[in-house]
Amino acid sequence: MSLFRLFQSRICALCHDPAESGSLCAVCERHLLGLHGRTDCLCPRCFAYSAGGSVCPDCESEPPPLEAVWAGMRYEAPVPAMLHRWKHLGNGAMARAFWQIMRQTPPPWLAECDAVLAMPVSRVRRLERGFNQCDELAALIAAEYGLERLPHDAVLRQHRPPQSTLNRAERARNIRRVFRLNAHLAGKRIVLVDDVMTTGSTLYALAHTLNRGGAHTRVWVLAKNQN
Ligand SMILES: [Zn+2]
Ligand SMILES: [Zn+2]
Repeated sequence: MSLFRLFQSRICALCHDPAESGSLCAVCERHLLGLHGRTDCLCPRCFAYSAGGSVCPDCESEPPPLEAVWAGMRYEAPVPAMLHRWKHLGNGAMARAFWQIMRQTPPPWLAECDAVLAMPVSRVRRLERGFNQCDELAALIAAEYGLERLPHDAVLRQHRPPQSTLNRAERARNIRRVFRLNAHLAGKRIVLVDDVMTTGSTLYALAHTLNRGGAHTRVWVLAKNQN
């Protein structure tokens, strides 16, 4: 390891104080772990508030296509700024910092999964950005838990306007028939990996596509909006 890398690896990715181990100092790590919060009062299928942690009435009456949802953190400061630095400025230190939190708060059902799939991006988006940030997380999860990593073209995604630029109704329309299965995934128990879950419409559309191909899908996101 070069001196420069050694120096870099001992600085907190967030506040630039010394980091004793990993990519975050103890204070920033504690703060981000606090954004994971309590999970015993959340619905296991949609991760929304539910007294006693039972399946919520919405999921009871209309079961969602995802068997379970799990989020590493709430989508609150400093997560949005960190995500921007990672996705749009290519700052890899943010990926390492996020992973430091996610691996300490894994979903309790991970042993029931056998494969990992990163939220696919369209070919145009991959070229624009140069990488898919979710591939990196999927690779880390696959390596840590000994899961099969599905290729990024196992599901193809058409190019559409970014969901973040649209309102709720437009998002639902924008995501219709956007995914197409391109691999045989019947019987696979897949953990989908995505950065942020907002309304869940993109993840639900992908889960519908995977389920139609005979797969079982759960999701582990880096952060979830609590609205
Ligand atoms: Zn720090
Ligand atoms: Zn629910």
